[in-house]
Amino acid sequence: MSLPQFELLRPRSLVEALDLLGKHSANIRVLAGGTDLIPSMRQKLFEPDYVLDLRGVTELRGIRPQSDGGAEIGALTAIRTIERSDFLGEQYPVLTEAAATVASPVLRNMGTIGGNICLDTRCLWYNQSLTWRKGCGFCIKKDGDLCHVAPGGAKCWAAFSGDTPPALLCLNAEIEIVSPNNARRIPLSEFYTGLGDTYRKLQANELVTRIFLPGNAAGYRGVYRKLRVRGSIDYPLAGVAVVMRRSNGHVADARIGITGVNPAPLLVNGVSDLLAGKAVDESLAHAAGELAARISKPLTTSALTPEYRREMIRVFTKRAVLAAADANRN
Ligand SMILES: Cc1cc2nc3c(=O)[nH]c(=O)nc-3n(C[C@H](O)[C@H](O)[C@H](O)COP(=O)(O)OP(=O)(O)OC[C@H]3O[C@@H](n4cnc5c(N)ncnc54)[C@H](O)[C@@H]3O)c2cc1C
Ligand code: SF4
Repeated sequence: MSLPQFELLRPRSLVEALDLLGKHSANIRVLAGGTDLIPSMRQKLFEPDYVLDLRGVTELRGIRPQSDGGAEIGALTAIRTIERSDFLGEQYPVLTEAAATVASPVLRNMGTIGGNICLDTRCLWYNQSLTWRKGCGFCIKKDGDLCHVAPGGAKCWAAFSGDTPPALLCLNAEIEIVSPNNARRIPLSEFYTGLGDTYRKLQANELVTRIFLPGNAAGYRGVYRKLRVRGSIDYPLAGVAVVMRRSNGHVADARIGITGVNPAPLLVNGVSDLLAGKAVDESLAHAAGELAARISKPLTTSALTPEYRREMIRVFTKRAVLAAADANRN
């Protein structure tokens, strides 16, 4: 499958990148590592006139520990760099665990954390060639007006399938979004819309530039578990991140994030209320699994059945809560 025609823009600074983005925002796509964008362009899911290649904007790379114990991560930092960071592994292990499961080593070298956060949602009826989609009929997410997955409705249910966002949600991460004349900092939890087609709150002239991990989330134990078809290289079809802080053998605080089953990665409500002040055992971990399964709403957007994916959210959550409680770090 060939790439559509486009003009490649290669800025060397953030100021230049924003200027180009502002000038061409009518039909431009941002390329970070390109590991998701380029296959999608080959499938003619995107046919931009311009592609803004951020790889020369070196100021957007790097992990910078902050004086409050937190960290700032440039959006262009490679997933592999995050996976291998001793600082993040020590302070935010849920993030390094999740990063280590993204795709394959080669793709983790190219793919970035910003691209993982901004990743397009996925569906069996969408991530296909133009010929395939023409043959089966277009859908709401691209060029059509019906949904093959939920034919009666007007909503797209394509699933958010990035691995690091549920971990980042558990850490209460924030992101910086910059346009040519504005910069805003928002909790990552407010970035996603919950819709499969217009899945993120990002204007065409905006870039995600930095991710902030708060100091008060450092040191939490962390576990990430995911379901995928090919163990060596695949998107999550269900994914669970758990962070936990313990005190005197009891849970002091805990959070659970899920991915791969809804149009957005989600934090599970009520986790700390359920676990805080208690010692984790099988039945408590099971109850946490029930909470997570209750908010997962997978549909037939992937090769595995919705029932199985939802069940695996329950099972993985239970296992991850037990593993987080067992981790022999204080
Ligand atoms: C075979 C295969 C397997 C994969 N398996 C996984 C997996 O297991 N888990 C997983 O999470 N991902 C997986 N991916 C997807 C991808 O490799 C990763 O999500 C990667 O982190 C994407 O980052 P990137 O820099 O390559 O993004 P790109 O492809 O460059 O961009 C992705 C999207 O984000 C936008 N974007 C990127 N950076 C910014 C920014 N700073 N500001 C605004 N918009 C931006 C782009 O415009 C595009 O819409 C897989 C991909 C392939 C091809
Ligand atoms: S969920 Fe429906 S509208 Fe969305 S991509 Fe799949 S078939 Fe298309």
